[in-house]
Amino acid sequence: MKIGFIGLGNMGAPMALNLAAAGHDVSGFDLTAPCPEGVKKAASGAEAAKGADVVLTMLPNGAILRAVAAEIIPAMSVGSVLLDCSTVDVESARAVAEQAEATQLMAVDAPVSGGIGGAAAGTLTFMAGGTEAGFAKVNPLFDIMGQKAVHCGASGAGQAAKICNNMILGVTMIATCEAFSLADKLGLDRQKMFDVVSTSSGYSWTMNAYCPAPGVGPQSPADNDYKPGFASELMLKDLRLSQQAAEASDADTPMGKAATELYAKFVEEEGGQGTDFSAMLPRFEKRARSG
Ligand code: NAD
Repeated sequence: MKIGFIGLGNMGAPMALNLAAAGHDVSGFDLTAPCPEGVKKAASGAEAAKGADVVLTMLPNGAILRAVAAEIIPAMSVGSVLLDCSTVDVESARAVAEQAEATQLMAVDAPVSGGIGGAAAGTLTFMAGGTEAGFAKVNPLFDIMGQKAVHCGASGAGQAAKICNNMILGVTMIATCEAFSLADKLGLDRQKMFDVVSTSSGYSWTMNAYCPAPGVGPQSPADNDYKPGFASELMLKDLRLSQQAAEASDADTPMGKAATELYAKFVEEEGGQGTDFSAMLPRFEKRARSG
């Protein structure tokens, strides 16, 4: 396939490389990031999009996606697919899809989980929204860049799945960290706490697979001085998207709201920026109930 790739940052560059390595003809564009070797450098987004079967975008947020879409949609060929893999708000995903479909393009929103490691290894998980035809056309690309793709529904459904998942993740991480902090104060050994909870009804991915306590459970960022992993500011971004969506759809999400406020404080006031999102545990450790 001829593929245009816009946004060659931490995630986009390795994804574009994997597509090129699999034999696709990939033209890439980024405002600042260098074009990786093996990907043809385009002079603009529109140039990368021209004549492509699929144009993939991997951009920071919904406002930038909307601006890039406005530029590239007129350059795209009828029947081609605009595949956005960025994490953006549901409304932007739906607006861009509507704009694309109005000019007889297909649109698929397919945010990912798996992070930079997953992008490099080609083991991402894609959560996709869009038509059956659009999904079918880009599914072979998901096979190259990832290990799993779920078609979640119509446009926006991929973004909806991503933010619901990450809202659970943020809330659960906080719950796991505050429980460890309480266990510390009660004199309960962390390893014993893990042994019980990881096989009891309090188990979760954050406890069992990504334990925030150093030296306990499988290897995780806690064992590497809380270097990300999944950075706290990216968790905050996703939690804010969940609250934007909750606001827009009138959904009551008190735990999501509390998690958003806590990660905002952690990232913006307490030095959490650049740490893994499991660094909530040392944050709690340092505090007293009234703190
Ligand atoms: P990044 O900031 O490294 O990359 C984004 C790139 O987009 C940058 O290189 C930037 O120069 C480029 N860009 C911005 N405006 C542009 C424009 N108008 N035209 C062309 N290029 C433009 O971010 P990233 O970590 O690669 O993340 C990309 C997306 O993936 C985000 O939406 C993020 O939330 C999501 N995501 C990231 C991770 C992660 O672990 N990094 C995990 C899952 C999802």
